[in-house]
Amino acid sequence: MSAADAAGRAGLDTKLDGLLGGRTSGALKRAFGHVTAGDLLGHYPRRYARRGELTALAELPLDENVTIVAEVLEVRERSMRQRRGSIVEATISDGTGILTLTFFNQKWRAAELVPGARGVFAGKVTSYRGARQLAHPDYELFEAAGDDPDARRWAETPIPIYPATSTIASWQVAKAVGLVLDALGPVDDPVPDAVRASRGLVGYREALEGVHRPEREKDWSRARAALRFQEAFVLQAALLGRRAERRARATLPREARPGGLLERFDAALPFSLTGDQRAVGDEVATDLGSGVPMNRLVQGEVGSGKTLVALRAMLAVAESGGQTAMLAPTEVLAAQHLRSISRALGPDLSAELMPTLVTGQLPAAERKRALLRAASGQARIVVGTHALLGDQVTFADLGLVVVDEQHRFGVDQREALRVKGQEPPHVLVLTATPIPRTVAMTVFGDLDVSTIRELPTGRPGIESFVVPLADRPAWFGRVWARVAEEVAKGHRAFVVCPAIEAKQVEEADAEEVDVEVAEAADGAPPAPLASVLDVVARLAEAPEMAGLRIAPLHGRMSSDEKDAAMRSFAAGELDVLVATTVIEVGVDVPDASTMVVLDAERFGVSQLHQLRGRVGRGSVPGLCLLVTNAPEGTVARERVDAVAATTDGFELARVDLELRQEGDVLGSSQSGRRSSLKLLRVARDGDLIVAARELARGVLDEDPVLASHPALVAAVRRRLDEEESQFLSKA
Ligand code: ADP
Ligand code: MG
Repeated sequence: MSAADAAGRAGLDTKLDGLLGGRTSGALKRAFGHVTAGDLLGHYPRRYARRGELTALAELPLDENVTIVAEVLEVRERSMRQRRGSIVEATISDGTGILTLTFFNQKWRAAELVPGARGVFAGKVTSYRGARQLAHPDYELFEAAGDDPDARRWAETPIPIYPATSTIASWQVAKAVGLVLDALGPVDDPVPDAVRASRGLVGYREALEGVHRPEREKDWSRARAALRFQEAFVLQAALLGRRAERRARATLPREARPGGLLERFDAALPFSLTGDQRAVGDEVATDLGSGVPMNRLVQGEVGSGKTLVALRAMLAVAESGGQTAMLAPTEVLAAQHLRSISRALGPDLSAELMPTLVTGQLPAAERKRALLRAASGQARIVVGTHALLGDQVTFADLGLVVVDEQHRFGVDQREALRVKGQEPPHVLVLTATPIPRTVAMTVFGDLDVSTIRELPTGRPGIESFVVPLADRPAWFGRVWARVAEEVAKGHRAFVVCPAIEAKQVEEADAEEVDVEVAEAADGAPPAPLASVLDVVARLAEAPEMAGLRIAPLHGRMSSDEKDAAMRSFAAGELDVLVATTVIEVGVDVPDASTMVVLDAERFGVSQLHQLRGRVGRGSVPGLCLLVTNAPEGTVARERVDAVAATTDGFELARVDLELRQEGDVLGSSQSGRRSSLKLLRVARDGDLIVAARELARGVLDEDPVLASHPALVAAVRRRLDEEESQFLSKA
């Protein structure tokens, strides 16, 4: 698309520095990363204020940058006592509360801020001698109503309030947006006319006007509806397009042979497959045999037997000499996968398939040997961490990539492994985080999804309780007494803390801890987090725990230390492991019966569910104690209560989605940064997403390369550019 049309008017790709001048465009780039007109016009207002309404000042949070509508009450000018110079002090009001504005040596402010003037004010709310102030205030006054022939319309006109920073105020964004809109020529709508008509939506150009320069409320609400749909539609077109593109590449079919490795493995299994394992296994086998690269997500509860499904796929691929690379999120898990795969294969199959570990921590000689085995094709199963993505790791015939616990890996990492195959390898992604359908559609819209709901029979089950310290502080001691009881029965316990050391959140997991949600709900400043090192020290002295063998496990330990701790715990040489969420995924200790989570409100719903999945896995019934300070009635507490109330991961995923106000289910862990969704909220817009996907599918079915939809192609490209530019270079 050309940057500007023939008449010299701007397009969405026109650079801002040519439209706004260097200073403003530089400020927008620094504050929000905006480079093009499209970037800026995609910066939608956070909300709309009206001149006629005033912002409730009493509810303003301290120490935050706010943008408010208020009226000047009073203004005074005086000279300073200690130094030369003058002070202008103004008070602004919403009719009840009052804020003070202070300006040094800016006498002219007094003439501007006349009592009765209304405007938008921005700054940081501080408290000075008990009075609330707006520090370094910035403002823009409304033109007086008298200038407008229609005073009522003046009062009703929505004023867009943009996400702003301390360096660029909302109205400065608005001004820049106005200039760009004035310069903008016609823009092509990424949503085809027929689709737009079927949804009764306004066109793109009109929507941009309506969202940024509404004259009435209806303008912005219609604009947002159109832009929200456009966002869902472009995203689905991008995902479906990518899926189609992958499927257009041919690859080697990989099929199990009668009497081959898979049959030998199945015959030796000490149990029979569950119905779901069988069904998903069939789907996988069909994919593997089809000659089209598989891209399948298998979701199922912890312990539902996903690893077994993956292992059976590895065996099918190995029949023809193909290799599997299995990517695990941590060293502990990679090592554990290797052990359990070797165990499941048994000595004969292990000798043939030579499962091999590749991690960053291997001693040089061992690492060299492992790399040779992978390169020569001798190792038909290679398990590793991110180290597998490195350039030194090569395969003779990479047929399958298995990614364990998808939520820790981004698309680009899957891709890094994918390109190591001569032919495009099949990809199987395993996740124990149950994903509601609309989220799967949005996050994993380019994958086919299989679900294992059924757990192997004979599981003893798990009981969960909330220990509400806010209401019942005395129960803390009873937690430890209960742990000691379990240990006396020959079982073991995990104690999970949100931090390693006082005040220090485990780095690798920091993003997973929902501190924001917890804090917002509580209002109060957060109490110090329970930390691994403190708790180990305290338990060593606790009378209830006398004689128990207790050790720490956290991300600052070397992988040898971590592995050693896990091993002695699994072997029964330790009774209690006090850990951060490094134990979250996949760790398998059949005798562990008890999971104590301290500061449980600090963890996300799905994370608590995952943690709980660590116990009650063998023959012993599980016990999960969720210890929390969150008072009843807070969202933080509701989340903890929800986890205690059900063990159905899908139900929890639904509750989780409901309890999150914002659609941050696509949080940073997916892509390494915050969700790039703008108006779309996965929690709220499920139906819209489903509809958009169907309509996008219809358009792609008719016109697979979108030859007659250049604006959609451009929008898809911008979307993918934003998210994962790697993909684009291949398109
Ligand atoms: P996941 O990867 O979903 O957490 P795994 O594949 O690791 O589950 O299986 C958990 C445990 O259950 C393993 O010890 C495995 O051997 C066992 N298991 C798997 N499938 C079955 C089955 N159909 N019947 C009985 N036990 C099973
Ligand atoms: Mg597993």
